[in-house]
Amino acid sequence: MQRAYTVSQTSIRLKGKAVPGAEDRQRLIPGFDQAAFSKASVCCVGAGGIISHIAPTLIRKGIGKLMLLDRDIVEPSNLNRQRFYEKDVGKNKALALTENLQRECIAATEITGLALRLEEAIDRRIDLSCDAAICGVDNNPARVAASRFFRTQGIPVIFAAVSRGGDHGYVFVQDRHGPCIACLFPDMTDDDRYPCPGTPAIADILQAVGALAAYSVDTLLMARARAWNYRRISLADGALDGAAMVPDRQGCRMFAPESNEHC
Ligand SMILES: [Zn+2]
Repeated sequence: MQRAYTVSQTSIRLKGKAVPGAEDRQRLIPGFDQAAFSKASVCCVGAGGIISHIAPTLIRKGIGKLMLLDRDIVEPSNLNRQRFYEKDVGKNKALALTENLQRECIAATEITGLALRLEEAIDRRIDLSCDAAICGVDNNPARVAASRFFRTQGIPVIFAAVSRGGDHGYVFVQDRHGPCIACLFPDMTDDDRYPCPGTPAIADILQAVGALAAYSVDTLLMARARAWNYRRISLADGALDGAAMVPDRQGCRMFAPESNEHC
């Protein structure tokens, strides 16, 4: 069952085992297309709290290929919300999550973990081609890098994030064309700050946001409806929840004018 194709210090590739009948019930969901889903590939930028609440869902729905990128190391303080166990403390997150996800497979999913940040993977010209990317990092420089890189590749990116206080979060879908994440958050392109270590973090809001992100993947791959590209959710106050189709913003600085017709 533990079939390792290649293992090295910076990458691991594992394959899941198909379980006949495991997907029977979701095949009955209107609009869900198992064949399309199991042919699709998703690249996850990050393998921490956000992705821990998205990747297992994609795996259990039988995604074709999943790639995980993260340079961080598992710490004990991650175990309240991330898909790691005590045995994983001290290991690279992308590699450890790849191993932990293998046992959750219901299909022959190919899972690749890379112990690299997105920017490093881009520099090394690693093949990041996929049908959809998910950006689950905690800093704006990496979000900007993801927005720009995947747009140049013609790949949609789902951004998911939660607030420092753990009360609210959002999902934004940057499609192949049209509005980008900086059309929604204009200050993002000028923000080079990284969060301080030890910020508050809890599983429940990650779960809420993760569910919306996982659903968004389906909307990009098949005929499941999505009348929004921005969705926000608050645990404490439903009046703060919202959904919108954010438009292109005049003067958006995410992309150079010559390389961008839409922002
Ligand atoms: Zn934009």
